[in-house]
Amino acid sequence: MASYSQTPDRAGATYLLRFDDLCPTMDKARWERLLPLLRQYSIRPILAIVPDNQDPFLDRNSADPTFWNHMRELQSFGATIGLHGLGHVCTATGRSLVPLHRHTEFAGSPEIVQRSRIQRGLKILQGQALQARIWVAPRHGFDKTTLKILQEEKLFLISDGLGARAVRRGGLTWIPQQLWAPVDKDSGLWTIAYHPNTASDAQITQLEQFLARRHTQFSCVPEVIENCALPRYAPKDWIQEQWMLFRKRFSRIRRKLTFYNPAEPIATVVPAHAVTLDKDSPTDRE
Ligand SMILES: [Zn+2]
Repeated sequence: MASYSQTPDRAGATYLLRFDDLCPTMDKARWERLLPLLRQYSIRPILAIVPDNQDPFLDRNSADPTFWNHMRELQSFGATIGLHGLGHVCTATGRSLVPLHRHTEFAGSPEIVQRSRIQRGLKILQGQALQARIWVAPRHGFDKTTLKILQEEKLFLISDGLGARAVRRGGLTWIPQQLWAPVDKDSGLWTIAYHPNTASDAQITQLEQFLARRHTQFSCVPEVIENCALPRYAPKDWIQEQWMLFRKRFSRIRRKLTFYNPAEPIATVVPAHAVTLDKDSPTDRE
């Protein structure tokens, strides 16, 4: 694959940072450990917000009355607001266009249900003066019906896909999201998804060290869109995705077979099922 830098003044790979599962009841203390890094390195992340959380796993604290104002502040600082479903309840069992999980909130759900959820989610964010610019499907779950509705709702960006470049596909622009921890790459566009509710101290330290080395290579969604050639989804993108899917499935099986690894640096302060042990493998929950 040809060297692919999203901005002409950056050499090598370009990175985006995404934070998932943000909602008023999120783990505020864990989230606040990440904020100094954003400020220090002027990172403008994707904020994947759950508009009306119904997932008990994300009920970490009582609802924070300052949450929405905090999101507005980050938006004004340059963060891109992502619509992360509606309630984050994953009971649908259809096959997703990014098939990483069996149960999702959207893939396979009837069109009328999907439309209602997306419209309600957008309305909640708009009511909080947040302009959703990008779709972030819970557990990567969405199908062609979702794409149709997103276009109708004028949400033309998706943070998903396993390729190494942003592409136009199905009438939308897909900005890939392939990593769950920092990885050194020589080229391409890479989005690292963090789940602040479950990020361990070791994971945050790892991010801090990576940013110290590579912060100049971090971009933001508007910059990527402005500078990216945005080619059509091509066979080489499909091949890249299949290879990534194979690797992820393999690493997931390996993870299940590995009962205990004393060398593993991740602290056991959160439920094991919520932590990814592989930097390029999704968590069991997303
Ligand atoms: Zn999620």
